Amino acid sequence: MARDVLITGASVAGPALAWWLGRYGMNVTVVERAPEFRDNGQNVDIRGAGRVVAQRMGIEDEIAARTTGEKAIAFVDEKNEVQAQIDVGDFGAGGPTAELEILRGDLSRILVERSRDKARYQFGDRITALDDGPDGVDVTFEKGGRRRFDLVIAAEGIGSATRTLVFGDEARRKPLDLYMGYFSIPPAPTDSEDTARWFNAPAGRSVFLRPGGDATHVVLTAQQPPDGREDLEPSEQKAWLRKTFADAGWEIARVLDGLDKADDFYFEAIGQVKMDRWSKGRVALLGDAAYCASPISGMGTSLALVGAYVLAGELSRHEDHEAAFAAYERIMRPYVEQAQNVPKLGPRIAQPQTRFGIALQQWALDLSTKPLVKSVATKLMSSKPEKIDLPNYGYGVDAGGLKTPAVGD
Ligand SMILES: Cc1cc2nc3c(=O)[nH]c(=O)nc-3n(C[C@H](O)[C@H](O)[C@H](O)COP(=O)(O)OP(=O)(O)OC[C@H]3O[C@@H](n4cnc5c(N)ncnc54)[C@H](O)[C@@H]3O)c2cc1C
Repeated sequence: MARDVLITGASVAGPALAWWLGRYGMNVTVVERAPEFRDNGQNVDIRGAGRVVAQRMGIEDEIAARTTGEKAIAFVDEKNEVQAQIDVGDFGAGGPTAELEILRGDLSRILVERSRDKARYQFGDRITALDDGPDGVDVTFEKGGRRRFDLVIAAEGIGSATRTLVFGDEARRKPLDLYMGYFSIPPAPTDSEDTARWFNAPAGRSVFLRPGGDATHVVLTAQQPPDGREDLEPSEQKAWLRKTFADAGWEIARVLDGLDKADDFYFEAIGQVKMDRWSKGRVALLGDAAYCASPISGMGTSLALVGAYVLAGELSRHEDHEAAFAAYERIMRPYVEQAQNVPKLGPRIAQPQTRFGIALQQWALDLSTKPLVKSVATKLMSSKPEKIDLPNYGYGVDAGGLKTPAVGD
């Protein structure tokens, strides 16, 4: 009998896992708390091993066809004069603009659409109780009904409620003392089709405008320790951003006007999730729910794709789910630790407090792109190989995809 697997969360990690488990012949149900598919979110990066997984899934070309077109980031001053510019490929694979950048909603749509033939999606529902027994997990859903599954995988993002239900307070949240608001606004003549613009205002604030499709994608970042505003209503979060950025200068009037009208607003407290274990009994965690590295790392989406690949591959290899979960953790831990290794000072350097700090940051950035310094910096950044050897599970490795017999079939 093929395993019955419940996945919660239909953003990146959940649908990627559904795709792989479906290919391995398992019965997959995906439950997502949002009432319908969510299109929002801005640029996410797919790097290194994440890109290899996309190749093995056969979706690399589709992603490449929908990349945002961003080729560089220009750091501008109040008068919109470029003080420093970093191009794609500067500083090797770890540079700020990845070769494969796509809007989160576009990537999620590709994954959901590609996995739908082998997975049942249920939007607008969530788990309210779990009873993990020797023969399966009895799951109670908010919309009513109770069903037994062989395994439950929570891919619910940084604030996962199922993680709390199963692991209590085992997850340690490491705050990076930043709030970010993401939304889209209509393009203006100052926007470029291929160059993002980054503007710093004093008091640790930044405005990041990125190209992509027929809109300009905004990230407003404010330095502030988390104080619970991530749980407020979007209208309250928007009001706080409006107040915080009111005197930021540059193109802020246009940005705040767009903020009021934006219907794709997403707001989060930036931080990381660290856990001593990612599974308990028949329940495992995947993606940001298990090991959020934060947008500062540029690695969250690659971790989600690679984690889904490894977890599914190990489940296809092992009849015993505990052995599969242990192998998933053994393979992923070093890669996750490397991705989470964001210097605590990083956010402070990116968000200076004073005008002098901003000038210093821009001088240093400009210097770092000068040929001699750049080649040294690139060598330093490129010399670290990724701490993962992607196992070959025998599916999707060649263009045609080698079919592996499903566990239990
Ligand atoms: C709407 C949205 C916009 C985003 N925008 C950006 C962005 O602009 N830039 C960036 O770097 N990162 C963004 N992210 C985060 C990024 O997608 C992740 O860091 C990364 O891709 C890892 O994905 P994940 O699937 O593990 O987690 P997430 O992408 O956080 O997805 C978790 C999913 O689980 C669902 N969920 C949560 N709780 C439950 C529950 N109890 N039951 C069922 N479902 C639940 C959520 O609605 C969500 O769909 C965004 C995430 C979301 C959900």
